Amino acid sequence: MVKAHNLGFPRIGPDRELKFAQEEYWKGKSSLDALKSVGADLRKQNSQAQACLDYVPVGDFSFYDQMLDMSFTLGNLPERVRDFNDDKLDNFFRVARGRSAPTAAGEVAAGEMTKWFDTNYHYIVPEFQANTTFSLDSSRLIEQIREAKAQGVNVKPVVIGPVTYLALGKAKDDSHKLTLLSKLLPVYQQLLAAIAAEGAEWVQIDEAILVTELAAEWKVAFETAYQTLAKSPVKLLLTTYFGQLQDNLALVAKLPVAGVHLDTVNARNEVETLIKNLPGDRIVSLGVINGRNIWKADLNGTLDWLEPIAKQLGDRLWIAPSCSLLHVPVDLDSERKLNGEIKNWLAFAKQKLEEIRVLKAALVSGRSAVKVELDANAAAIASRRNSPRVNNPTVKDALAKLNAQLGNRKNGYAQRAKTQADILKLPKYPTTTIGSFPQTAEIRRARNQFKAGKIDDAAYRTAMQNEIARCVKEQESLGLDVFVHGEAERNDMVEYFGEQLDGFTFSEFGWVQSYGSRCVKPPILFGDISRPKAMTVEWTAYAQSLTNKPMKGMLTGPVTILNWSFVRDDQPRSTSCKQIALAIREEVLDLEKAGVRIIQIDEAALREGLPLRRSQWQEYLDWSVLSFRIAANGVADKTQIHTHMCYSEFNDIIEAIAQMDADAITIETSRSDMELLEVFENFKYPNEIGPGVYDIHSPNIPTEEHIIKLMRKAGERIPAERLWVNPDCGLKTRQWEEVIPALTNMVSAAKKLRAAGV
Ligand code: GLN
Ligand code: ZN
Repeated sequence: MVKAHNLGFPRIGPDRELKFAQEEYWKGKSSLDALKSVGADLRKQNSQAQACLDYVPVGDFSFYDQMLDMSFTLGNLPERVRDFNDDKLDNFFRVARGRSAPTAAGEVAAGEMTKWFDTNYHYIVPEFQANTTFSLDSSRLIEQIREAKAQGVNVKPVVIGPVTYLALGKAKDDSHKLTLLSKLLPVYQQLLAAIAAEGAEWVQIDEAILVTELAAEWKVAFETAYQTLAKSPVKLLLTTYFGQLQDNLALVAKLPVAGVHLDTVNARNEVETLIKNLPGDRIVSLGVINGRNIWKADLNGTLDWLEPIAKQLGDRLWIAPSCSLLHVPVDLDSERKLNGEIKNWLAFAKQKLEEIRVLKAALVSGRSAVKVELDANAAAIASRRNSPRVNNPTVKDALAKLNAQLGNRKNGYAQRAKTQADILKLPKYPTTTIGSFPQTAEIRRARNQFKAGKIDDAAYRTAMQNEIARCVKEQESLGLDVFVHGEAERNDMVEYFGEQLDGFTFSEFGWVQSYGSRCVKPPILFGDISRPKAMTVEWTAYAQSLTNKPMKGMLTGPVTILNWSFVRDDQPRSTSCKQIALAIREEVLDLEKAGVRIIQIDEAALREGLPLRRSQWQEYLDWSVLSFRIAANGVADKTQIHTHMCYSEFNDIIEAIAQMDADAITIETSRSDMELLEVFENFKYPNEIGPGVYDIHSPNIPTEEHIIKLMRKAGERIPAERLWVNPDCGLKTRQWEEVIPALTNMVSAAKKLRAAGV
């Protein structure tokens, strides 16, 4: 009989209970015991929510991050925290965030954090050295296994596999990570034995790097690792997710494990080959429900292809979501304000488990056994497909007519630059900022009062205008060359636009963990995108009316809006992106019409949308760059287009960035001492660049000398005529007390550079 299971459940709780408990503890307002008991409660709730499954994941809960948990389980603690003898959880937080509760001793450097595959979840990167050793600490996992068994569920402990663990870590010296494999495997063997001793039949072993391109030595590492682990007294379910196996499929099929999980949302085309290649005694686990988006699955459609497979495989088939449900919100039932029609199209984690239950019932007892559920699902799927809310013929029409020509400026950069210089009359080394100024307590108060209906539209507008006026005044006295309005009216750079575009909606509780206690609530892009009216013109025009200096219009680009939202699964991402691009284009043209001379379109998330496999990068870059060009390049020569990206690992995508053809780009570079500009030695970036000279993630104030030094370094690679002077990113997380001296130094540094004539 087919079995149902799950790969992982969100740990934050339906009301972000974990976040609040973590933060209370970190602030010293609650005890470690209080935090631990919130964790235990959440795990209990999660066990209950999953009780309908044949196997329930255990060990997927974490007080910060599952990779860091794995590092602790394997005894791979950075040296700098080894001498602390307090509670293990305090030490765990020390690695996660550089410190624990205020009462616990010792500040250390936090572990590096980076994105988990192509999701918006961030993990703490394991640190390795040639002399790294491992030793087992299975206490966390064992405790959670016992706890879940006491809840009466059938446990399936979850661990990150040894090869993925090594692959996602970072060697801190110049050793090669793979040399550690032979030291690591015995600890995994002990771990699996300890789990088996608790009576678990299966262990889920996550090896998601199998969906990426693997060098030959890493493939060999897989064989070595699983030959060794095959001797363990427990069955291994090797889980892969987020993509296709492609040329790793043959490798996976021959690894000596008891079962393999495949993400059929991404790799439906590989199901048959995998089954054909796997020995006949292996379990085939198919991830049939999308664990990464919030749409209801088409259950009848799924059954259409799944039923024959179930017949063929019998007992050997398991079904599950495609990946851990960590990447979706907890419970749709919490939503009270979502439009009823749209709500009926959605499924969060709990609802996805219900879908798994229904699918299993249909496979085991026939569709008639769950007719009511299947009919309701079919009605929801049809309602979404045919809804006028989703389909806007005008938008579809505009998209059909779209041609790449729309993305072309009238003239090349060199000619535009002359026209713009005549109008803008900027000095050499022009100074500017990236958009936001500090989001003060007053701004947040006004926004909350407005949202709660305590102040009216006019009062809110006045409060925001006052903030804008303050920003303008500060910029006048600082002597900046190109101004911004400060973005006081924006809660978030994507949500602000999503709220004003048709085709987006917002949940109240649709939180997803981004890292540690940080959760995000991505907008839901459900329909064709259009712009009912101008979104930013009034604020920008007001700001411009207060000064003679050029005021930048400030927009979020189509690729960033797309990458930071839950998007449609009924059309390609590229189609949704181009629709957003057309809406932003209208805004750009309205800003131009209103007399705005410089327009900045932020693409903070362009890089993170890169597919997991390099072979797919170009296709992504083609449509994402085109989308930006469509949004930006409808303007006349005289209008200057800027873009901003808060990173500078450009080496591999610099040509695509140049193709965006923005007149100027501002990037993050200050932390690396401009080393990141090395890419410009080989690639002659043709337009203007503002390499950040003020690290806005730090409370430190950069000195004038430091800024001059950084700009001189930049000048070695980019001609001075094409350099801007600006911070790394927006200033919204900083205080005015920090921003004023930092920008004062920035402006005086620019003046000295001009005077020096370099
Ligand atoms: N314009 C935005 C700001 O200044 C850009 C933010 C970002 O790049 N993340 O806040
Ligand atoms: Zn930025």
